[in-house]
Amino acid sequence: MSDQVLRDLVAMGRFLGSLDGIGVKGGKPVKAGSRAPNAAVSASRPAPSTPSARLVVSENQSALEVRPAPPVRTVSTISVDLPSAPARVARDLAATEQALAAIREDIGDCKRCRLCEGRTKIVFGQGSPGAELMFVGEAPGADEDASGLAFVGRAGQLLTDMIEKGMKMKRADVYIANVIKCRPPGNRPPETDEVLNCQPFLEAQIRTIRPRAIVALGATAAKFMTRTADPISRLRSRFASWDGIPVMPTYHPAYLLRNPAAKKDVWADLKLVMDVLGTRGE
Ligand code: SF4
Repeated sequence: MSDQVLRDLVAMGRFLGSLDGIGVKGGKPVKAGSRAPNAAVSASRPAPSTPSARLVVSENQSALEVRPAPPVRTVSTISVDLPSAPARVARDLAATEQALAAIREDIGDCKRCRLCEGRTKIVFGQGSPGAELMFVGEAPGADEDASGLAFVGRAGQLLTDMIEKGMKMKRADVYIANVIKCRPPGNRPPETDEVLNCQPFLEAQIRTIRPRAIVALGATAAKFMTRTADPISRLRSRFASWDGIPVMPTYHPAYLLRNPAAKKDVWADLKLVMDVLGTRGE
């Protein structure tokens, strides 16, 4: 057994074990790339024999882009489409913070969609302006609506464990935001017009922070970041691209709280993200 495999098993044990404290029991280690039984796409499937291109269609942006498929590399014992993350660059953190503050100022006491009617606080997002990794969720829940901070409830605690116990990063070093900034009533999924109204703010945050990789948490974020209507079970475990930034869709922590068996799939996805960032084994 190689050192890397041993390191993966130890990290996964800590990650899975961390779920016990919040009511989710740990599971058995599995190979990277394993997925839900009904998933349609497997990371372990053979790579296509001919280069492919991906048509990216945005309903709310005029451009249609055809992007070449990323190169196929071998990771551990499986073959996956593993793109290159943008290079690490020195950042002007003060300027980035200023730019983020300007976005927040632009949001103001936003009434651009009906979600303003029931919200307590706008949840802008928070984290390091120099973040190399960004997490994008769906929308604030009750705890977030009350506090004004993203991912602070039980799902937020699980996200913290994913980042700190699984990926060995500090939560303060990543950036966390949602597709929309105000809580939908009853935590329903946001509607299309609400997403269209709010999306410029998230897009501006991403362009400002310019992370080297993005993890899209849950169906709404995955569809938004990949600009497809595919279900999360089909999108996860392979990278998409958002303006050159690798995007890994995976299950939302709230889903993991209800379906602990899926945590092994999330761990497999996060390992691929660490591979792209070059942080696995650091
Ligand atoms: S969800 Fe976004 S667009 Fe709608 S009111 Fe809140 S900040 Fe404005």
